[in-house]
Amino acid sequence: MSIIELKKVSKFYYNKSNISSGFSKVNLKLDIGEFVVITGESGSGKSTLLNVISGLDSYEEGEMFINNEETSHYSETDYETYRRKYIGNIFQNFNLINSYTVFQNIELVMLLDGYKKKEVKQKVLDIIDKVGLSKYKNTKASKLSGGQKQRVAIARALIKETPIIVADEPTGNLDAESAKGVMKLLSKISKDRLVIIVTHNYEQVKDYATRKIVMMDGSIVEDKKLKEVEIKKPLERNYKSITELNKLLLGFRNTFNIKTKFILLLLVYLSLTGLVFSSYPALKKAKSENVTSSNNYLFREYSKKRIILNKIDKSEITDDDINSIKKLKEVNKVVKDDIFLDTTATLESDTFGFEGTLESYENIKKVDKGRLPENENEIVVSGSKDDYNIRTGEIFNKKVKLTIYNDTIKDDISVVGVIYNKNRNNFDSKLYINNNIIEKALRKSYITYGTKEITFDNKVYRNDSETFSYIIKSIDKLKEGELLIPESYNSFCSNYECKNKNASIKVTNTYYKETVNLKVKDYFNDKTYEKLTGISKKEYEDNQMTFYISNIDYDKLYNKGSYQISIFTNKVKDVNKVSKELNKMGYNTYPFKKFSVNAVGDVLGMINLFRKVVFIISIVVLFFISYFIIKMILKSRNIYYSTIRILGTTRKTCKSLLQIELLNDEVIAYFIFLIIIKLCKIKVININTINEIIKYLNVKDYIVLFIILIVMSYLISARYSRSLFKRSTLETYREEI
Ligand code: ADP
Ligand code: MG
Repeated sequence: MSIIELKKVSKFYYNKSNISSGFSKVNLKLDIGEFVVITGESGSGKSTLLNVISGLDSYEEGEMFINNEETSHYSETDYETYRRKYIGNIFQNFNLINSYTVFQNIELVMLLDGYKKKEVKQKVLDIIDKVGLSKYKNTKASKLSGGQKQRVAIARALIKETPIIVADEPTGNLDAESAKGVMKLLSKISKDRLVIIVTHNYEQVKDYATRKIVMMDGSIVEDKKLKEVEIKKPLERNYKSITELNKLLLGFRNTFNIKTKFILLLLVYLSLTGLVFSSYPALKKAKSENVTSSNNYLFREYSKKRIILNKIDKSEITDDDINSIKKLKEVNKVVKDDIFLDTTATLESDTFGFEGTLESYENIKKVDKGRLPENENEIVVSGSKDDYNIRTGEIFNKKVKLTIYNDTIKDDISVVGVIYNKNRNNFDSKLYINNNIIEKALRKSYITYGTKEITFDNKVYRNDSETFSYIIKSIDKLKEGELLIPESYNSFCSNYECKNKNASIKVTNTYYKETVNLKVKDYFNDKTYEKLTGISKKEYEDNQMTFYISNIDYDKLYNKGSYQISIFTNKVKDVNKVSKELNKMGYNTYPFKKFSVNAVGDVLGMINLFRKVVFIISIVVLFFISYFIIKMILKSRNIYYSTIRILGTTRKTCKSLLQIELLNDEVIAYFIFLIIIKLCKIKVININTINEIIKYLNVKDYIVLFIILIVMSYLISARYSRSLFKRSTLETYREEI
């Protein structure tokens, strides 16, 4: 029983136009213990035969047996296993890892085969000694002479302890002296193995060979036993799969051992990291712009869970109605005076202004800084931790004015507590105030409701005309039916005198029409303002277009109970269901979810979507650019991977090694970037673009970006290893030489 047996085996090469023969109908039996020399002219098929025997190339016809096993069904993986178990290769051009030392080159085989670094150290040193290279064990392979290189290659084949060693022109690149040494070494190790040597220089080997095979035009023309040999059983070779630790070790070694490659990759990854970092904030910026812009339009509370509703018959919404809405289980809260949700009030003093929506302070239980309010004059605000007034404590314990639409509601407010907004956005700021002030503020906020008409001397003036604009406010000083106007509006009455003339104000909105009949009590100018209104002179400037009426008339016009309310569902996805149910109950519903995409939302939504698409496209483009640059840089690594494949390494292992290598570069680049950012933050360096970028990033973003980069790096290595393995080992190998 022979270790290798070929029966009528043929190998063809298919070119575009013709088929040429590597060798044809070869019959051969080879045994352990033999030292076989294959000679013949160049082009006679020696290399091809050797490659088929060593499982680097396939055959088209006939049968090949390995240890009595038929091989025609062998897959790429089976050949990998075969090479790993049986074959040690020695090549004309040595095929070493040039950036590794002698020691590392030999150790590599053992690491790939799952041995621990520690347990193989002595063995590696012994083999180095055996091939006479102890002095050079820490020298890089690139620095060795040809003869020394070939001895490293032999040592590498030896440590594998395979039963078969094949050598294709092992002395082809060596001077006569070195060649002799190499042959001697090979003959020494041939005792328990099958050694097959291809050479066109038979003289060099004839002293050692036990069998001579001569080839010509792809056929064996001579096969002669030179010496009797004792035929032995094959050695049992032990190997395991590579350990994770060894993968890491080799991955790290590969990351750093070629300096130019490392630096180039690092530069690519630094630019990649920088580009991803700088394109991501555009996305975030889009979001925050979107949010702030809604502020400028109709609604400030833009929650997608909000539904605005009124009755289909436009009648008033009663407490009973509200209670039955509250009973729907998907409804979280009902806001009766929903105008507040969209009304901003301002705290202002000479030194600062702070804006927010109003809410009762009964709704809060604790504050992050300061304390809860104890009386009508004290309030709590919520806002961003980054807000200047909040950060510096400037906001506390000052007497400030609370205004709505420039109308002062209370002028002796002081802020006693702060709640920090979760999303660090001042857009969600709130002012938590006493219920009595809420009541007052509510009245003021109605002035935005509907259209107004005023009649003087039976002539109607609409508020929207360009010549006649005014706003209506109420003061305690006036009694029912009294009207106080700015002096300049006298021009609308006959004889430029309105005092004691009849007037009326009519308010029209979606829900109701209401008219109050009034008599002009007086007109005010800068001198009489304070006396007539009871309001400080300072406010005159802002009120030259204000018509004052009594609280009773104001309430009649505006304080009409609820015609429109807002509800909030527990979840966004409940909105449609709740809407339908409310429709059945007799309400018109305006779910904010849909509603906000109209008009303004539409455009912003598009811009936002556009930015998202741009972000994704730039990531994909970056991926491909990086891939091609990295591929170019890694081209020099083909030789590394084809070498370890020849040693029997699986595709999976090659892929992991590459992944670790690229991941290292990527992680290092990422941390360099973080350091730069940190230096910018603590103002050691000042790079405007980076300052601009980091404004938009929080910890979560850094993690998301890290994951994006890791995924990109993973995909690049997967792509690269796929393209590497598209070609067979031999093709990759041939390309290199
Ligand atoms: P040797 O090693 O004896 O010099 P080879 O085994 O390299 O010869 O080549 C044998 C024959 O196969 C030659 O005719 C050669 O042209 C052909 N051949 C070798 N490799 C290829 C290949 N990759 N593609 C096509 N023909 C090839
Ligand atoms: Mg050849």
